[in-house]
This record gives sequence, structure tokens and C-alpha cells, in this order.
Amino acid sequence: MDFPVQVNNLSFSYGKDSVIKDLSLSFQKGKFYSIIGPNGSGKTTLLKNLSKLLDVSKETIFINDQDAVKLSNKEISKNLALVPQNINIEYEFTAYDIVIMGRTPFKKRFEDYNEKDKKMVEKSMKLTSTWELKNKLITTLSGGEQQRVIAARALCQDTDIILLDEPTSHLDIQHQLGFLNIFKKLKKDITVIAVMHDLNLASLYSDEIILLEKGKIIDKGEPARVITRENIKKVYNIEVDIIRNTSNGAPYVMPVV
Ligand code: ADP
Repeated sequence: MDFPVQVNNLSFSYGKDSVIKDLSLSFQKGKFYSIIGPNGSGKTTLLKNLSKLLDVSKETIFINDQDAVKLSNKEISKNLALVPQNINIEYEFTAYDIVIMGRTPFKKRFEDYNEKDKKMVEKSMKLTSTWELKNKLITTLSGGEQQRVIAARALCQDTDIILLDEPTSHLDIQHQLGFLNIFKKLKKDITVIAVMHDLNLASLYSDEIILLEKGKIIDKGEPARVITRENIKKVYNIEVDIIRNTSNGAPYVMPVV
């Protein structure tokens, strides 16, 4: 079986604070994974480790069978695209400028963008409904529009691994579904790993869910296995009923108040 992302006994601390504890995971090609868990359980830290935004130890993270430690940032960017949670762009770039930056890993120093790059930009912007925003300054866009532009930049990187960190936090329900549909319908060999807050969206879109608490895996597997009353009670300390989404039978979390 093909596992583009492998995590072997990963531990990570910020100073003395241990956030990820001896975690091992294999992500299979072509599947949509969600990572869920309460605030502070290490979800974003895990994504930052996968994308090498944090210092990783050798032989803990393998990206397309290569030890992440041995890959340069440019090589990482050719394998994996990240849509981060917070987008702080203060410079006066247009949406188009931001998206075309997704092509820089493929460029030599000072090499200009070519027709293929421009076609990729147009395709990614159309997919994320941002093409009509192309000449607008990123600083003038709403949070949701910015999130979609950053998603277009990630698609433009043309990688077979995509990491999404709370991708729908700034989006209204229409754009939440539109956004997740884009990633669900990508080429079937693309692996998506998304940190999700909305348990019902995670349930609806994921092939597999990983439930984290305090840097450890509490459960993982298909939504019906992970999204249970017992797991939700254990990790979030709330009472819920689980019903079924009538469209595809995915578990649907209904809080009991
Ligand atoms: P989650 O994404 O599940 O909310 P995070 O990975 O963001 O969790 O954070 C896990 C823990 O690590 C939290 O206790 C958080 O306060 C801490 N943490 C996150 N980023 C930093 C940082 N840059 N420096 C120190 N501690 C951090």
C-alpha cells in the first residue's frame, strides 16, 4: 500500500511543554483525513511538523518515503502544500500575486513564470471561485475570500499531499461545503489531511478521522468508528446523541443540552 505521509514515534515539545507524545500514523494515498480533538490537543503542531515549519527529528516524518529532515523547504513544497489557519499578509499583493507564489518551488532563481504557471493559477483560482478577485489587493478581501485565495495558492503548487488547518473557519455554510467539495473531488491520488473543528463536517467528508487528546491518539478510523457518544464524552466532556446524516449515513453529532 502507498503511504505518502508516515509519522513514526513523533514527540514534540515547545521548550519543556510536551505537546505530541510518541505518535505514529500512516496516511494512505488518495484518502481524506480529518484530525479532530479539543483546543490545545496538538493538531496544528502536528500539521506544522508534517510541513516542517517546526524542527523535526530525523526518521520521524516521511514524505513520499523521504525523511523530512533531509528535504529542503523547496523540496517539501513540491511534495506538500499547506493551507494555514492564520493568514497574515500585510503587503499590498493582489490575489493573483499570492496564488502565483504557489509556483515558486518549481522556479530557479530569477526564473520568470511561464504559460504553464499562469494556466495553473487560472485553474486553481477558478476552482476556488477567486478568479474574479484576481486584481484585488489581498488586504481588502474578507477572511473567507482570503482563505479561498490561500487555498488556490496551495492547489497551484500541484502537490499530491495537501494539509488544511481549520480550512473552513472563516467560511459561511455555502463556502464551507464548496471548499471541502473541491478537496474531496481532487484527483483521486491526492491525500488530504485537514484539522477540523466542526465534527459534522469532518464526519461528512472524511474517509478516516484521527481523534487527538493531549498529543495522543484516542481513536482513529472511519467516521462511524470514531464519532461515538463515548469518544465525544471522553474527549470533549459533553453529552451528545449520534444520529445519521440522511444524505450519506455519516454520523451526525447532536449535543444534548
Ligand atoms: P490545537 O491545534 O489542537 O488547538 P496546538 O497544536 O495549537 O493545538 O497547541 C498545542 C499546545 O501547544 C497548546 O497548549 C498550545 O498552547 C501550545 N503551543 C502552540 N504553539 C506554541 C508555541 N509557538 N510556543 C509554545 N507553546 C505553543
